[in-house]
Amino acid sequence: MDLHIINCGFFKLDGGAMFGVVPKSLWQRTNPADENNLCTWATRCLLIEDGNRLILIDNGIGNKQDAKFFSHYYLHGNDSLHGSLKKAGFDPSDVTDMFLTHLHFDHCGGGVEYKNRDNKEPRLVFPEARYWSNREHWQWATAPNAREKASFLKENLLPMQESGHLHFADPEEDSPFPGIELLYVNGHTEKQMLPKFTYKGRTVVYMADLLPSTGHIPLPYVMGYDTRPLLTLEEKERILKQAADEHWVLFLEHDPVNECCTVKHTEKGVRLDSTFSLSDL
Ligand SMILES: [Zn+2]
Repeated sequence: MDLHIINCGFFKLDGGAMFGVVPKSLWQRTNPADENNLCTWATRCLLIEDGNRLILIDNGIGNKQDAKFFSHYYLHGNDSLHGSLKKAGFDPSDVTDMFLTHLHFDHCGGGVEYKNRDNKEPRLVFPEARYWSNREHWQWATAPNAREKASFLKENLLPMQESGHLHFADPEEDSPFPGIELLYVNGHTEKQMLPKFTYKGRTVVYMADLLPSTGHIPLPYVMGYDTRPLLTLEEKERILKQAADEHWVLFLEHDPVNECCTVKHTEKGVRLDSTFSLSDL
């Protein structure tokens, strides 16, 4: 198995929204905010080359929304989905599986683009790929509650289904990817999926929005966006405890600085142990 990081650029979100009930005086130590109280976040995706499959996990925000939309999110930096794929030596048509941890726009927006901006005719960015979600999350995302409505954008979702490329993983069955287990968590949104696999003898988990950054490791540091924050607390406690026990490598999609971390047990609970690049493994 080979891994390639696909950086899709940085964006900004309100620091308070990203840390829920935790006061700014605490979270700003790890995630400093700008003059508008916005913090910078990565959209760090992962390309898994395994046998004859090329599996991309998440694909960033994409570029099809209008200037008003992007004025809220400040997409910036030199990296892009297409540029990073090219740098890794791949063409979008090489991707066999487009795996989506969940369908919030900063995780799946790069999977669909417009052929032509004016008439907004959509096309898949990965024409040969199966696009993966799960039935429960798809239903949740396509009939969204008022809280998450601004995160589930129809233009990101419906073209996957209309093109016939949408496939569902099933929590009751084996993962559709041999050697890659899927952890299902329900605190952030309904049935988010976290890929877990072995790489160079280490257990790696793609943490997506269960743990956006190292700043979110202490238990109460839960995003205001989470639909079931008490459940996130339980899921974080269980998964971070096991991560500390078994020295897992946690891959961080949104941490603006750190690609990966490990955690350890302390008297105060599970805390950050080390940070490192994937290439250091
Ligand atoms: Zn999310």
